[in-house]
Amino acid sequence: MLFMVISLTLLLSALMALAGLQVKNLRGVRYWALASLCLSFALFFTFTPLMVSRGWTILLGAMFMGAGFCLQYLGIQAFEKKRCNWRMFTLCMLLLFAQNLIFSVIEPSTHSRAIANSLVYAVINGMAARSLLIRIEQPLRTAYWFTGICFAVLTVVFLERSITVYVTPPDAYNLYASIPINPLTFFGASMMQLCLTFGFVLMLNYRLAVDLQSLASRDALTGVLNRRSLEEAAAKLWARCSRTGETLAVMMIDVDHFKSVNDKFGHQVGDEVLRRLASVAEHSVRIDDYFARYGGEEFCVLLPATTEEAAVVLAERLRQAYAATTMNFDGEFLHSTISIGVADSEHAGLEFALLVAAADQALYRAKQTGRNRVVAFSTLEIAVDEVSAQIKQD
Ligand code: GH3
Ligand code: MG
Ligand code: MG
Repeated sequence: MLFMVISLTLLLSALMALAGLQVKNLRGVRYWALASLCLSFALFFTFTPLMVSRGWTILLGAMFMGAGFCLQYLGIQAFEKKRCNWRMFTLCMLLLFAQNLIFSVIEPSTHSRAIANSLVYAVINGMAARSLLIRIEQPLRTAYWFTGICFAVLTVVFLERSITVYVTPPDAYNLYASIPINPLTFFGASMMQLCLTFGFVLMLNYRLAVDLQSLASRDALTGVLNRRSLEEAAAKLWARCSRTGETLAVMMIDVDHFKSVNDKFGHQVGDEVLRRLASVAEHSVRIDDYFARYGGEEFCVLLPATTEEAAVVLAERLRQAYAATTMNFDGEFLHSTISIGVADSEHAGLEFALLVAAADQALYRAKQTGRNRVVAFSTLEIAVDEVSAQIKQD
């Protein structure tokens, strides 16, 4: 059984190392691979009675066991892009070294050593369980729950072991004592290690799925929503607004004389201007508004439960905030402005294509009348039918 578990742990280590090669952008996987390797060494040193000097091999076994558990915990921190707590790792290693030196080399006592080591293992696994079960990231909930529960079971297994050994008289306890706590701990911990590796792979899988979803819904240059996500949001809002009668507003934003920015400063500066505008706009719009790159240097904002009048106020605030930012590129100052067209469902209808076309008409007027301004569709004296006919023509 021991040989099987050691081989299996080594295999899991190789599996995690392989997974680490596949997902280079996700941190933590290498810690988990190293953790499994440490745990297989730990089992080898702790339970193989073939060693010449038992005391030192037991000390090594305990150190590897502690290192394995700590590395799993550090792996979780790395996976969550937090700073790894190496102080805790060093502290655990020192503690395990000291207590195993005393209880297996200087003054051997299997009884005290089993209690002390199990307590340290319980604390490390308890910390890992806590970090996964408290403040769970929403899309990763199932994977976090599964892995967290495995760590919690391991904590209980080691606590139970330390309590059982504590209440057993020292002379009645040794590694091969008749009480079943050692085989039970061995069985429980081995099973949990298998489940834990599965849990880590599950966490990786979920994270990759979340990253992929974000790649598909965000614009690569600015990081804001892309047109496809905006249209999806619009379809949902359309259903909600037609049920509740709420007004839906749209803003179309276009950078003024952007071609000349590209011509004068180059495309890379042009890209940086778009990123800057996205950043200013994301701070200006409200939390439940949808801000997206509509294409080229045009952006669109969907504003639920907002009238044209209120949207104009927001647009004006955004226009002024952007106009107030001066960009410095290698000593050359760049001052850029935007024009915004605004429309709402009361004047243009609820259909997204109509709303966008109406806001586009307003934007066109803003460009015609001098740029760097906000124009509302209702002030244009254009009938919705004309806009609708224009869409059909296009
Ligand atoms: P106007 O004030 O009338 O809007 O003038 P404009 O020069 O901004 O004219 P227009 O809106 O037609 O300009 C679009 C330009 O945006 C053309 C294109 O080269 C540039 N552009 C589109 N997408 C990108 C991009 O991703 N990066 C950069 N740097 N430029 C882009
Ligand atoms: Mg344009
Ligand atoms: Mg433009």
